Amino acid sequence: MLNNKVALVTGAASGIGRAVALVWAREGARIVVADIDRSGGEATLALLHEQGAQAIYLAADVAKPEDSQALVEQTLAHFGRLDVACNNAGIGGPSAPLADYPLDGWAQVIAVNLSGVFYGMQQQIAAMRKTGGGAIVNMASILGMVGFASAAAYTAAKHGVVGLTQVAALEYGNQGIRVNAVGPGFIHTPMVSALEGDAAHLAGLLAAHPMGRLGQPEEVAELVAWLCSDKASFVTGAYYPVDGGYLAR
Ligand code: NAP
Repeated sequence: MLNNKVALVTGAASGIGRAVALVWAREGARIVVADIDRSGGEATLALLHEQGAQAIYLAADVAKPEDSQALVEQTLAHFGRLDVACNNAGIGGPSAPLADYPLDGWAQVIAVNLSGVFYGMQQQIAAMRKTGGGAIVNMASILGMVGFASAAAYTAAKHGVVGLTQVAALEYGNQGIRVNAVGPGFIHTPMVSALEGDAAHLAGLLAAHPMGRLGQPEEVAELVAWLCSDKASFVTGAYYPVDGGYLAR
């Protein structure tokens, strides 16, 4: 599905980003694993090499525009092109009611989860325009569509990611660049494992998903891979939930 495409995924040291890299590898892509976490990034790289994939790890903090620029420059230097990108790196941030929400936490979540996607797309689109097109998938959330008490910054950032996705799709659709957003429900990753430790909280999370379970990172990655492939050639500017029915309630 992605034979020989050069594909970059941020936040690929863990969770959903790692699963995206592994599914892309199965589909024949050449992969850039980007993350702030070097040891996790190198562990993902080792898994990709075990699968026989061509892949490199690059350190990057997506909240820094210069890192996003270096990431794409190094991708082009190594592989010569960029066909596919998944802006996936993200953090949960503090949990607090809006009036008490810590300002430093707000700034950090917006910097990583929203500005990081903006900086990433600026560089990725510039590279894709040179080769006539590409596909970008931005990792939003169910909280890119609805609110969640105690998660003001995360919810605002993910709504912003959906809006940025639509703007980019409008601006570059006629240049062969498709841009979509994916909205996972609660997925078994290190990001939510802390919440799963509290039995009452976990029961509430399970009840919020009509399928009665949390998702697996691979279930998100399969959707990302399809959206990045030519099978989705007329799909752009869209938001796709992968949420066990969370948003259907
Ligand atoms: P995860 O397991 O915590 O993985 C996120 C990865 O991103 C980690 O390796 C993390 O490194 C890295 N990262 C954090 N800040 C970064 C930065 N500034 N620059 C580069 N890398 C950075 O989380 P996940 O659950 O897979 O989440 C991946 C994406 O899916 C996020 O955008 C998240 O908001 C979204 N999402 C997740 C869920 C869910 O239930 N898990 C639901 C909806 C949406 P460190 O570990 O060193 O911080």
